[in-house]
Amino acid sequence: MTTTTPAPYQLITGKLLVDGRGGRAVERGAVLLEGSKIRMVGAVNEVAAPEGAPVEVHDFPEGTILPGLVDVHTHLNYPGDGTHTDDVMEEEDDILLMQSIVNSRLYLAKGVTTIRDNGAKNHTTLSLKKGIARGLATGPRLSICVNPLTITGGHMWQMGAEADGVDEVVKGVRRLVKLGADYIKVAVTGGTTKTSDRNRAAYNLDELKAIVDESHKFNRLVAGHAHATAGIVNCLDSGIDMIIHCSWNDADGGSTIRPDVVERIAETGSWVNPTLDQVFGAPREKLQEKADTVGLDAEERERLDGWGARMEDRLGQIEQMVKGGARFVTGTDCGWGPVPFSRIHKEMDLLVQGGLTPMQAVVSATQDAADSLGLLDELGTLEVGKVGDVAVFNGEPHRDVNDIVNVAGVFHGGVRVV
Ligand SMILES: [Zn+2]
Repeated sequence: MTTTTPAPYQLITGKLLVDGRGGRAVERGAVLLEGSKIRMVGAVNEVAAPEGAPVEVHDFPEGTILPGLVDVHTHLNYPGDGTHTDDVMEEEDDILLMQSIVNSRLYLAKGVTTIRDNGAKNHTTLSLKKGIARGLATGPRLSICVNPLTITGGHMWQMGAEADGVDEVVKGVRRLVKLGADYIKVAVTGGTTKTSDRNRAAYNLDELKAIVDESHKFNRLVAGHAHATAGIVNCLDSGIDMIIHCSWNDADGGSTIRPDVVERIAETGSWVNPTLDQVFGAPREKLQEKADTVGLDAEERERLDGWGARMEDRLGQIEQMVKGGARFVTGTDCGWGPVPFSRIHKEMDLLVQGGLTPMQAVVSATQDAADSLGLLDELGTLEVGKVGDVAVFNGEPHRDVNDIVNVAGVFHGGVRVV
């Protein structure tokens, strides 16, 4: 990865251009950057720097030009190697910050130019964000929650933002805004944190409403981690902006989709980030790998054998939600569990298996992801005036999202970084 000072004008040309808005790909497309911004977009014969101006040309004869990708769900503190969250959270902040620096550099090199971090310990992502701004580290544009709000002992409580009751959660939101939170993340239900219960609501509705109202007062969007259906319903009743996981868990641990609730998700326009790779894709690969090498114990063998059926059920839920009009965004949950900062194409591929077209999956990782973060005015599509975040992939990601592994070039704020 190299970083050089850009010429005043840079012309990026490729075999195809996909602007992130879902329309047809442009044959022989081009983007003209002026400094850190997009100045022109279109077919190569229509896009040129002003007569006589110095221009640096980056040609990708096999490449499709896309907006820089946006991942709405990452955990920079986490190693993405399967380490349990309770163990990761035992680490010192210094180690977590170093892991975050490594992850952010890796992800930018994969063509992901904007990420939303969904929860980190203490001030580690704040420090990273400041470090990137000062040139001490390299990484995508960061939208951070600092720490997720959670009930006492709730999911991710170790990160530093336990709050109970209306007064405490209101104070919690104000404290996070004061620190520099770009949005507010809430553990609406439990998760894999051992002291929490993923099949039950954590916050009561009055607490959740207070969080959402207070956050919106300060112009901050709110994203809620919700595995249990009771939590999904609370998300909708509180007017939350994004539902994460949306696993439809019953109190007894089963999973049953509720068509009446799907209808409400579509009506309210809440974004849904189902984290399919983190829950279903990457763990299966990991287990299969173990089966092929050291072998599995009886419990693991049973889990692997039942995987196909569980996966089919989950993809069936996604399909039902897609048909019902829910709006999906790409968010990998990378760092968490066995998901390293290198597999955004896997999440997109699973969304395609769940019923999105490959082009819709691209839109879910560009335009719609940016929209769901409240950043669409600045980025997420290749349009004049937006920041010069551009990623080029060899192949045709709008036809096969797995081509996203073939990174050919990455521009971040007008600077070529790959
Ligand atoms: Zn997460």
